[in-house]
Amino acid sequence: MHMNSRFAAALLAATLLQFPLAHAQQTAAPIPSHAVQQESGSYNVRVGDIKVTALSDGTIPIDLHALLKGATPENIDKLLMRSFQRNPLETSINVYLVKLPGHTVLIDTGAGQLFGPGNGGRLLERLAAQGLQPEDVTDVLLTHAHSDHSGGLVKDGQRVFPNATVYVGKPDVDFFFNESNQKKTGYEQRYFDIARLTLKPYMDAGKLKTFAATQEVLPGITATLHPGHTPGSAFYRLTSAGESLTFVGDLIHVAAVQFPMPGVTITFDQNQAKAASVRKAQFAAFARERALIAAPHLPFPGMGHLRTSSSGGYDWVPVTYTDRKEN
Ligand SMILES: [Zn+2]
Repeated sequence: MHMNSRFAAALLAATLLQFPLAHAQQTAAPIPSHAVQQESGSYNVRVGDIKVTALSDGTIPIDLHALLKGATPENIDKLLMRSFQRNPLETSINVYLVKLPGHTVLIDTGAGQLFGPGNGGRLLERLAAQGLQPEDVTDVLLTHAHSDHSGGLVKDGQRVFPNATVYVGKPDVDFFFNESNQKKTGYEQRYFDIARLTLKPYMDAGKLKTFAATQEVLPGITATLHPGHTPGSAFYRLTSAGESLTFVGDLIHVAAVQFPMPGVTITFDQNQAKAASVRKAQFAAFARERALIAAPHLPFPGMGHLRTSSSGGYDWVPVTYTDRKEN
């Protein structure tokens, strides 16, 4: 980090020296990387009577030029610059812990070992910091069966959460467990391999439950299906004492680009057109309802609200940081 900021300062100095002032004012300084490791990695909110804790599984840099569709690299860089970010974009992997009476629930499980050492996979240390062991988790609600959501379910092919029932949208199981869908759709083979690697141990243990339509999966948590990103992509809406929080999975990856341009998709979207139309419709609904949402890849803790922007599209408004003893 020290080297980086020095390097950035040197570049800025060079820029200022080489260009007359008028030009220098128009030339944006490079956005430096500030890669650091955080030690706390949790953030609490209360939804009605229920405590929800965001847990950081880590962050990873992703190359938006290669991954986003529907925006040119120049477009992307301009939007990133506007948010004081740069490509590759450091991207959060957030997991959410929900304490229901009699249930300790995880929404997604992060990447586990799948992205290699140092890239995600911090969920278990974050749970330990909450005083929780893997055995304590009673339920896992998967938003979909991608590596950075289901990866934390297994370690060396074994179940990480031996007492947990895993819930996932039935269309994801139907799609990823049928090899002919790979050839039919051209969706990359590795997605099929990973879904089976992470879900099969729970299936074999009789611990996998699926839902094929809107369903209250746990008291106060309702699952809804929103096919597009994957065929079984799901939201989970927690409601308690008149308040609610909706866990939206991969409805959005990149705040700086997809809030102003909801039509921009990412290569991971299994059905690009559906993913874009789901995003547009849901953004409009969330903004209209002033809904609190939680998204695994928005900057930690990934919780906040959308509002319509005067320039079209949407703004993201993160939750207000709160740190006060409850009375
Ligand atoms: Zn995904």
